Amino acid sequence: MNFYYAFLFFLLGSVLASFYGVVATRLPQNQSLIKPRSHCVKCHHVLSWYELIPIFSFLFLKGKCRKCHEKLSIYEPIMEFLLGLSFSMSYLFFGFSYSLWMSLILLSLVCLIFVSDFQYMIILDSPLVISSFLIFGLKWYYFGISEAWNALEDGVILFLIFLFIGYLGSLLFKREALGGGDIKLSFVMGLSLSTPYALMALILSTFLALPYATFSLCSTNEREVPFGPFLVAALAIVFFFQDKFAYILELFRF
Ligand SMILES: [Zn+2]
Repeated sequence: MNFYYAFLFFLLGSVLASFYGVVATRLPQNQSLIKPRSHCVKCHHVLSWYELIPIFSFLFLKGKCRKCHEKLSIYEPIMEFLLGLSFSMSYLFFGFSYSLWMSLILLSLVCLIFVSDFQYMIILDSPLVISSFLIFGLKWYYFGISEAWNALEDGVILFLIFLFIGYLGSLLFKREALGGGDIKLSFVMGLSLSTPYALMALILSTFLALPYATFSLCSTNEREVPFGPFLVAALAIVFFFQDKFAYILELFRF
């Protein structure tokens, strides 16, 4: 039975990744989600249903468009596989519980923000709003309304902290230090984790971003680096390993 559900969660993750790919690519360009239908970027051949099956259609078509044999993007099937895998791993780790639903929401955010922020330097509002409602609802359902309000408070606290850091950064560096999307994302960070854990996620994210920022500064002289992917990745990591981070937090409590 476990295996059966693990497989179902794999399918769910890969189908959602395919949908998120469309959302995070089209919405930043103000394109409709429905029209035009998915097509080959070269010959505009509209994909039929079996060419839209995540991962399998890529394998089946041997990575090429059926009409013009243009190579298909390898990133999509990889993303579909990874989200499917991480969904089914979450199920195997957590079983049907609060942590499972939370991790599905956070992994979805990781996927959406990676695609939109790395491609367009944009964090979409709609995933942040939807996930905030879902997380608030989950906390309410599992822990009661007062816990849910507490989480909301943590969200506001984090938001204010980020706003302040952003303001300080722009004074120091004379340009926007934290994007508006990053500041909005901090609300979801506080809402998901409590304030101390969310701050640890912030610290972790700077460590994650540093090698990338150094690399992109050296290789392309690019000074603007998307920070959202590192923030949301750190959020997911701290959520998954909260018990480990609890030890670190203990060290700072006198
Ligand atoms: Zn084609």
